[in-house]
Amino acid sequence: MDIVGAVKNFFTPKAQPLKGKHVLITAGPTHEPIDPVRYIANRSSGKQGFAIAEAFASAGAKVTLIAGPVNIATPKGVTRLDIESARQMHHAVHENLPADVAIFVAAVADWRTSGSADQKMKKDGKGLPDLKLAENPDILASVAQLTEERPKLVIGFAAETEKVIAHATSKRIRKACDWIIANDVSGGVMGGNNNTAHIITEGGCDTLPTASKGDVGRMIVDRVIGGL
Ligand code: C5P
Repeated sequence: MDIVGAVKNFFTPKAQPLKGKHVLITAGPTHEPIDPVRYIANRSSGKQGFAIAEAFASAGAKVTLIAGPVNIATPKGVTRLDIESARQMHHAVHENLPADVAIFVAAVADWRTSGSADQKMKKDGKGLPDLKLAENPDILASVAQLTEERPKLVIGFAAETEKVIAHATSKRIRKACDWIIANDVSGGVMGGNNNTAHIITEGGCDTLPTASKGDVGRMIVDRVIGGL
């Protein structure tokens, strides 16, 4: 956009189709401590979740973004709560309901150690540490399966490396959410700026054109407006 266009755009009142709606979004990874310096995590830059939060705020929604450890500025108009672990994310999500729409973009670590060490574990030559794992709560499923305060639209994400649509379709049913937005992460999607998303609903699959994560966020907002 040229300078005149950018100035015009700045002063043009924006459409606020989601004014009065509360949208809750999770983004980024979670870190599950092993000891004070080590952790278990999934890969996630947080870029897509933050772009979605920005797009919803631009459409007038009140946005609560519950973010794991990422290095990204908070989008304008978004209320951000920083957490580290899956259990903290689970707590923050439920504390911040009710919401009209909840979108779970975070790459939550499936497991945590069942009791992290208070001091840094030493490599003392006596063999490998005896790490015991415990399963983290499934935050998306816990919200999708609420009987009271269930958001009207509960949307999960699925990062898949093969059989993307088939795996995401069964995930939608297993977690009882309304939509799953699936993406193929076998290429350079992780940490990259572009994404190809497939929106899987009860009615089938709608593949969005490959676009920047910002544009994917705006396309998701358009679909949500149509689905509310
Ligand atoms: O089971 P899987 O991790 O593949 O599911 C992905 C979806 O579930 C994402 O929307 C993710 O944010 C959400 N999820 C969650 N809590 C977990 C695991 C995944 O909210 N413990």
